[in-house]
Amino acid sequence: MNGEHPGDTGTRLPPLVDHHVHLMIVGAHALADTALAGVVDLGAPLDLLTERRAHDGLPHVEFAGTFLTAPGGYPIGRPWAVPGCAREVSAAAGDGRGSLPSPAETAVSEQQGFGASVIKVALNAAAGPVFDRTTLDAIVAAAHERGMPVVAHVEGDGMTRLAVEAGVDVLAHTPFTERVDDELIARATASGQRWISTLFVTSHGEPTEPSPERDLALDNLRRFHAAGGRVLYGTDLGNGDQPLGVNPAEVDLLAMAGLGASDVLAAICDPWPQAERDDAVATFVPGPPPTTLDDLASWLATARLVPAEELEAL
Ligand SMILES: [Zn+2]
Repeated sequence: MNGEHPGDTGTRLPPLVDHHVHLMIVGAHALADTALAGVVDLGAPLDLLTERRAHDGLPHVEFAGTFLTAPGGYPIGRPWAVPGCAREVSAAAGDGRGSLPSPAETAVSEQQGFGASVIKVALNAAAGPVFDRTTLDAIVAAAHERGMPVVAHVEGDGMTRLAVEAGVDVLAHTPFTERVDDELIARATASGQRWISTLFVTSHGEPTEPSPERDLALDNLRRFHAAGGRVLYGTDLGNGDQPLGVNPAEVDLLAMAGLGASDVLAAICDPWPQAERDDAVATFVPGPPPTTLDDLASWLATARLVPAEELEAL
């Protein structure tokens, strides 16, 4: 039972996290009354970090800060890319001037200075210039020196390979424009790379309809998961029309990619990028738990975020 609704019985879950959102699109406080205890903002202007970090309500937000991109690269010029959400990083000099901070170090330090805890890089070969390997390596090294994981948007041929070879920690989307071969999936899983699902956005709002991008993503994620890869639930909230809170269609698509109920819950309850869960809050899902995988999404959609102390184990 729980304090606000005494007598309700149901299931207690750890806090729920959407690992890919954009508060610059949905609003800095738009998720305040949802079941989400945590979100990871993967691209926003630095003034949004300042504004949101002055406010201590739930959900807890971890930030990437601005997209780091090659000069003229994605997402510059996209209609949704609000001013200041992307920062161009010029190529590493490569001339041995090792004592000066490199453009990569300066850009990473700037994000950290505004409170970012992860670094986001755009590797979109379908939409403009992309970092060369030397510059990408410099960004990854600068982030790792500061204890910050690197998340990459990969899109276009060869971009998954570039991210794996450069030691990128997390992919912001399941790759959806190319088939990732089994050898590369094995390398990604061996390195501990995590993939944020975002399957719903690859379906362009038609999750039950086959489409080339959705089907590539489902096939890639199915094989990544089967190979032991770590999947994080994420919606890219702000991209297209999605509910605020848990998106049941994303849950259904994770099941279509071969994740069982416990795998789906592991993906949505993973505290990444935090090492530990916040145990002051918990998730309460009223009613009996689902008996089939088909019912998981509608059950999870009724979840509520509650103070852990209000729950009593029966
Ligand atoms: Zn995004």
